[in-house]
Amino acid sequence: MKSDNPNVKGIKHMAFGVKDAAKALEAYARFLHVPADTEIEFFPKSKNRVALFYLGGIEYQLCESTDPDGRFAKWIEERGSEGLHHICYEVDNIDDALAHAQEQGATLRICQACQVVGSHPHPEGWVAFLDDEAGGIEIEFMQVYTPEQLKEYEDYKGI
Ligand SMILES: [Zn+2]
Repeated sequence: MKSDNPNVKGIKHMAFGVKDAAKALEAYARFLHVPADTEIEFFPKSKNRVALFYLGGIEYQLCESTDPDGRFAKWIEERGSEGLHHICYEVDNIDDALAHAQEQGATLRICQACQVVGSHPHPEGWVAFLDDEAGGIEIEFMQVYTPEQLKEYEDYKGI
């Protein structure tokens, strides 16, 4: 019998596909006491506007595509409503996590922003997406950089 994925340490973030990040943030501010002045950041590479905050120790990302063909806009159009788009699980070792998932028949999904399939560097760590969903929710894995790896990434990117 297969054991649990021993690799998953916790939730890194939950990402919601929304039509209007400012409006979605307003509801979190009103009902859940999230700071109303939370900054909404624009990411030029993925053309997303994202409100990012912590609630109950979990990072939330309310993601709005500014491009009608963007990842979140298309997703909302296909399913007909806003909602929880993916959960990013923090893992000890992303290669092990992917090997485990693939042993179970999972296939990998392309990262729309980077056009890469499988593990690849993002600002906070190595990430990968599965093409398989759990209960309709996309699965992302992230192996967060150690401080040394983060420095390597930033040197490489010239940040
Ligand atoms: Zn990527």
